[in-house]
Amino acid sequence: MSPSSDPLQDRFRGCLLGLAIGDALGGKFEAQSADGIRARFPSVEALIAYPQDEIWYTDDTQMAIGVAETLVEHGAIIEDQLCKAFVANYVPSRGYGRGARAVLEAMEEGRDYRQVAEQYFPGGSYGNGAAMRVAPVGLLFRDDRAALQEQARLSALPTHLHPLGIEGAQLLALGVALCSQSKPFDRAAFLRELVAACTSDAYRTRLELASRLEKVDDLGQLGNRIEALDSVPTAIASFALTPESFASTIANVIFLGGDTDTLAAMAGALSGAYLGASGLAQRLVNLIETSPKGRTYLIELADRLLTVYRERHAIKQPHQ
Ligand SMILES: [Mg+2]
Repeated sequence: MSPSSDPLQDRFRGCLLGLAIGDALGGKFEAQSADGIRARFPSVEALIAYPQDEIWYTDDTQMAIGVAETLVEHGAIIEDQLCKAFVANYVPSRGYGRGARAVLEAMEEGRDYRQVAEQYFPGGSYGNGAAMRVAPVGLLFRDDRAALQEQARLSALPTHLHPLGIEGAQLLALGVALCSQSKPFDRAAFLRELVAACTSDAYRTRLELASRLEKVDDLGQLGNRIEALDSVPTAIASFALTPESFASTIANVIFLGGDTDTLAAMAGALSGAYLGASGLAQRLVNLIETSPKGRTYLIELADRLLTVYRERHAIKQPHQ
């Protein structure tokens, strides 16, 4: 597929491809220690040069594809349609957690999946599983804050009912929306907007800390775990520290160890929305899997999402 000369198309494509690359590269290091990864890869360049063959994405991208497909088909999140998309795309070996597998299998069999989710995550999951898949919401509702908040919430609900799980998705979606708009990048303004959008003190405190970080070596202070609170601000901060480098943005969260695939998926989605597909590490773009829902499909899906975005915009502002 030829590069896009349309800046917004480049950003929509960059977001989905960046998500898939971060997810696939990070997936090679999931649950490893920071020291172990650092011992093998002394630099960003060494880490980025590591894959020699096709890189395969995990559940993060697979579920984000379901979110994007639902938005393309229906223009908004409709819960039962979203669940159908999750089930249609579901390949258990893509790294789904035990609870997510149980919830998806309940969806597949027409059982009460929310009850299953409650069994695995009493009080609702506050993991990063809603944030890892929410990027397409940030793209489609990039110019409508109220819709973005609500659609991000709806995209979380089938699996994540805890307020911290939902808020993590809302903040990541807003981050993607802001990234898709701002050039040149204003780090202070970016983080100020995200802090202002926080509904909990917990996220506000983390993002205020993120805005004070000055070195990538300090990213670990924000966390590297599967809880949304311990990963969404980390991904946002990594992007904000190195906005002009996709490679650094995903590598610096992988160097933290822990939940590396989701950290890098979220960081990659932000970076790709800002830099566009043309600003990604082209060697890694070329290594994205060529399966039926691989690289070419992701580009087409991004283009279809952009068409829906432009139709929505044309209806809202008929004279522009
Ligand atoms: Mg994963």
